[in-house]
Amino acid sequence: MKKQEIKKMSKKLFSKRRLVWDVMSEKEKAGVWEFDHQYKSFLDSAKTEREAAARIVEMAAKSGFSSDLGSTQPIRIVRSFLEKSVALCLSGKRPLEEGINLIISHLDSPRLDLKQNPLYEDIDLSFMKTHYYGGLKKFQWLARPLAIHGRVIRSDGSTLDIMVGEDEDDPVFTVADILPHLARKVQTNKKVSEAFEGEKLNLMVGSLPFGNEDTKDRFKLAILNILNEQYGLIEEDLISAELEVVPAGRARDVGWDRALTGAYGHDDRSCVFTSLRAIMDLHRPQKTALVLFVDKEEVGSEGATGAKSKFLESVVADLMTAHGKEPHYHEIQTILMNSRAISADVNGAMDPDYQDVHEKRNAARLGYGICLTKFTGSGGKYGASDANAEYVGWIRNLFNQKKVVWQTGELGKVDEGGGGTVAKFLAPYGMNIMDCGPAVLSMHSPFEIVHKGDIYMNYKGYKVFLES
Ligand code: MN
Ligand code: MN
Repeated sequence: MKKQEIKKMSKKLFSKRRLVWDVMSEKEKAGVWEFDHQYKSFLDSAKTEREAAARIVEMAAKSGFSSDLGSTQPIRIVRSFLEKSVALCLSGKRPLEEGINLIISHLDSPRLDLKQNPLYEDIDLSFMKTHYYGGLKKFQWLARPLAIHGRVIRSDGSTLDIMVGEDEDDPVFTVADILPHLARKVQTNKKVSEAFEGEKLNLMVGSLPFGNEDTKDRFKLAILNILNEQYGLIEEDLISAELEVVPAGRARDVGWDRALTGAYGHDDRSCVFTSLRAIMDLHRPQKTALVLFVDKEEVGSEGATGAKSKFLESVVADLMTAHGKEPHYHEIQTILMNSRAISADVNGAMDPDYQDVHEKRNAARLGYGICLTKFTGSGGKYGASDANAEYVGWIRNLFNQKKVVWQTGELGKVDEGGGGTVAKFLAPYGMNIMDCGPAVLSMHSPFEIVHKGDIYMNYKGYKVFLES
C-alpha cells in the first residue's frame, strides 16, 4: 500500500470520538445553555416519581396533549396511571399498523424511603427509620442535608402531599455519622460493604421534648404534635404513606466553565426530560410517536407502574380507539412487533480516578454525545438485552445523517460488574430496542454529574428518532 492510500484508509478508522463542543455551531452552543436552564428547573420540581409524573402531565397539557381520546387533531394523548407512570402519544402520517417509534425512560431514582412505623426516640432525640430503595452506596447519604417528599393518606381518606427541606426557610433532615476519632472498629477497619448498615440510616427529626419530665416518650410525642398541628396527622397515618428522603437543594452548575450539571436524579430524569421535550417539540411525524415514563426501574421494573406492567398495551389500545379502530389483542401485538424503541437510560461515564474498571475503547465519556449501548447485562451478557446489528446500523446512520454526536458505551470491563435497564422487558414484544442516553459520573449518588452538551445531544437524538 502506498503512503497516500494508508493516509486515506486511516481516515476511515473509528478511533476518534467527537467532542460535542468541537462539532457544534455557536448558535447550537447557545441552545445548550438555554436547554440546560429548563432541564435544571425540571429536576428541581421533580425529585420523586410522583412529582415527575405530575410535572410531565402539566407540561403535556400546556403542549396540547389531552386525556380525552380523539379530541385533538393530530391525535395528542397524555395518559397517567396511578400517578407514577405516564404515556404521551402523537399520531403520525403513516398507519398505526406499521408500528410506532417509542422511547421509554424511568421516573424513579435511588433514595431512602421512610418505613411504615418510622418514628421513635433514643437518648432524648427523635428519629425516623428508613429503608433504602435501589442500588445506593449508604455512606453517601450520611452527614448531609436531606429533604422529605411524598404523600400520606389520612384516616379519613384524604390526601396530603408533603415537601419539606427545599425552601430556604425549611428545616432539613440528616443521618448522622460517627466521628473519625471513634470510627476505627465500627467503620474504618471493616470492608466498606459491611461498615455501613441499613438499620443505621436513621433520620434525625427532632430534639425537643413535649410535656414535663413525667411524660413517656416525650421526644417522639413532640414530633407527633408537630405533625398533628401542621398537617392533621396521627401516627397511624404514616403507615399509609410514601415518604421519600432525597438530597435537599437545587441542581447546580459544576466547574469554572459551568459546562457540567450536578444534581440528584440525572438517572433517569435526564432521559425523562429530553424525551418529553422531544415529543413536545414534534409537529407531525411519519410514524406515531409514543414516549413512555415508568417507575420502579431501580428495583427491577416490578409492579403495576414498572416496565413489566401491561400499561404499554393499554396505551396502544387507546391509540387504536382514538383512530377509530377496535383494539383487538392481535392487532396490538402486531403494532408492537413492528415498532422500534429506544430504552432511554443513562450509562456510566468513565471515571477519571477509576479508569481501571472501564475498558477504555468501549467506555462512554462525558462530553462526547449520546451514548449507544448495544447490550447491557453482566458477565457473559447474562440478563442482557442485545440489539440486532441491523437496528444498531439503522440508528447509527440516522444519527450520522442528522448530525447527532454519538458514542458507544459498555458499562465497565467484562468481568467488572454490570447492570440492566428496561430494554429487556420491551424486547419480548418483538420490537427493535436499544439503550441510548447520556453518560453520568457519580451515578446513583446524591449528586450525579452530566455534561450539558450531552444532554442537548440526547434531546436532539431522541427528536430525530421520533421524526424518523
Ligand atoms: Mn437508569
Ligand atoms: Mn439507575
